[in-house]
Order: sequence, then C-alpha cells, then structure tokens
Amino acid sequence: MAAPPAIPAARFGERLEAAQGRVAERGLAALLVGVGPDLRYLTGYRAMPLERLTMLVVPRTGPYRLVVPRLERTPAGRSPAGEAGLVEIVAWDETDDAHALVASFVNATAADGASPARVAVSDTLWALHVLRLQAELPNAVMELGSTVTSDLRIVKDEAEIAFLRAAAEAADRVIGQIAAGRLIGRTEHDVAIEVRDRLIAEGHDDADFAIVASGPNSASTHHEASDRVIAAGEPIVLDIGGPLGGYCSDITRMVWVTGGNPANGPDAEFRRIFDLVRDAASEATSAARPGVAAERVDAVARGIIEAGGYGERFIHRTGHGIGLEGHEEPYVVAGNPTPLRAGMAFSIEPGIYLDGRYGVRLEDIVVCTADGPVALNRAPLDLLVVDG
Ligand code: ZN
Ligand code: ZN
Ligand code: ZN
Repeated sequence: MAAPPAIPAARFGERLEAAQGRVAERGLAALLVGVGPDLRYLTGYRAMPLERLTMLVVPRTGPYRLVVPRLERTPAGRSPAGEAGLVEIVAWDETDDAHALVASFVNATAADGASPARVAVSDTLWALHVLRLQAELPNAVMELGSTVTSDLRIVKDEAEIAFLRAAAEAADRVIGQIAAGRLIGRTEHDVAIEVRDRLIAEGHDDADFAIVASGPNSASTHHEASDRVIAAGEPIVLDIGGPLGGYCSDITRMVWVTGGNPANGPDAEFRRIFDLVRDAASEATSAARPGVAAERVDAVARGIIEAGGYGERFIHRTGHGIGLEGHEEPYVVAGNPTPLRAGMAFSIEPGIYLDGRYGVRLEDIVVCTADGPVALNRAPLDLLVVDG
C-alpha cells in the first residue's frame, strides 16, 4: 500500500495566505496558533504539546513567525513550512519569556489597528498559555482561532482527500481481517488490541480508538472494550480508526458471530433494526450533495429510523466532519444549517440502541463532491455474519 503523496509545500503557503486574509477581514490583530491540528494544517509542523511555548503568529500584515523553544529549532525548520522558508523561525532561550515575545509581535501589528486588539487563539491551546498571553496582552480581546481556520479546514483539497481515502481503505482492510478471524471466546479488550496492531500494520500513525462492543454492550454508543468474553449468537459493533499521514479514519461495521451454528443467527428484530440503520446510512449518504444543509442529511437518516418506529433509540447526531481531527466541522446534526460544499468530508453513522439487548451502528466517511457524494470506505455495509 503506497502512501499518498505529501501535501506540496506551496499549499502551506496558500493556507497561510488565506488565514492572513481572514485575520485582516475579521479585523483581528493576529491569529496565534499553538501545537495542534491548526498548526499542522498551516505549516505541516507536528510538534508535541509542551509547557514550553511553540506558537505560530499570523499577523494581520507582515511575516508569519513560528516561535519555538531553542531545542525545537531543528525539527521546526524541517517542517514543510520551515523548509520552504514560508515562516520565519524565532527561537527563544530557556531564560526568555516566550509569551512576552509573542505579545510583542501582536502589539507591533495592533499598533496601527483598533484598540483593544482582538486576537484569535487556536481552540486547543492550553489554558497555561492562554492565561499567560492574556497577562501579557491585558487589553486584548481573545476569540477562538476556529473563527479563522474552520472555514479553511472544512473544505479538503485533493491531497487531503487522498490521505482520507488511504486511511479509510486501511481501516476497511482491518475490519475484514477482524471479521475473518477468531472472535468467540476472546475478550473485547483482546480484540481491541488486535485492531490497534492491525491499524498500525496497515499504515496508520496511531490507533486512536477501537470500540469492540459485543452482545448487550453493542447498545452502548461509546463503549470501551471490556473484559467481556464474546459468545456465539451475538452481535459485535466494531468502530475503529486513527490518523494516517495525519488524516483520520473512522469506520463502524456490524459483525454477528454464530459459532458455525445457523440457529445462532440474528433474530428478527435485530434484522429489522439493522435494515433500518443501513437504509438510513445509504439514504443520508445519497442526500449529501453540494448546497444541501448538513441538518437536512441528519433529517433524512432520522426520518427513516423514526418511520420504522425507533426514532427515540437513535440518540446521537448522524455524523461529524473529519480531517486532521477525528471530530471537526461540519457536524451533521439538527440545527446546523451549513450548506454542504464540494470537498467537505464527514461521517454518516446512524444507529439504533436497545438497552440491555443490542444495538446497531454503521459508519462510512463520505466526501461531498460536485458530482455527488462519494463514500471513501469500500467495505460493504452488510451485516457480517461469521462463524467467529
Ligand atoms: Zn464518536
Ligand atoms: Zn466511529
Ligand atoms: Zn465517527
């Protein structure tokens, strides 16, 4: 399996420029980006979040600066934006006040603007840094960095979709491998470890989550794999994923283990809720076209499950955006009027949960394109009835 081509350095230049344009447009003095998905998006720099400040400063005008601890100067310089000379790397020493340094860059750009300065800080910046920055910029009004970055990140370009597709296909293979292997007599936890190992073996950077929920546990939406032993005659929810090249996979499939005895197959009600969820998933996917509101896609899935009499058992939104983060905008949920645009990527994951008995969820990652919706996962949505 060949990894997709890296995001070209020029793209980071375009992203930085677009971010700066939005900083100016919104009347902000600067966007301050700490370690996390926004930093990866704008510079390609993957750094560890630390108490030592690493911060990209995107001012309203002027150069982009990447403020880093001296000991991180080399890796920062090797990041795509560093290597391409798109950002000026400013290293600070152990005895310097990094927050005051960042504040000085903000003040330099704010001087010609409105007072008090408005500054956007990345959503996942630690309070440790936010409070110190606030102390250095006592008159600044802070807002969330997503006001600048979300609109940019919400539409994926071809290179990003190639990573999402590679991640989805790798996760598809892991589902196939797990469904084909031994399950009965093993604990959920043991299977979850195998899922994680296989995600990495299939090219993932990391295995963020491996929900293995068997029997009555399948009725719990975010069940953690437990020491419950899988038995014949029950369903298993496999909801697995993690990043590959930074871009996340997230797939859910349903397995039913019979132990080789057809008498242990799914009962009529399970078949019924499974079919409803599959219909809801495929109809919602078909509805995900440019111009359609995100909430409308949720309504399509919900309408099918409601008509089947299980509306109250579909207890979560239909989906979430996906990219550098496992959950990001756009959220496919009632109350979100955002019109879908070509390049948006999100999960479609309806479910029905019957407490104490069992549950069903199916999940694909879908990209909205000008030609209509495209599911990145290729594993069929069918119930995987296996000997186990
Ligand atoms: Zn989730
Ligand atoms: Zn999932
Ligand atoms: Zn999901």
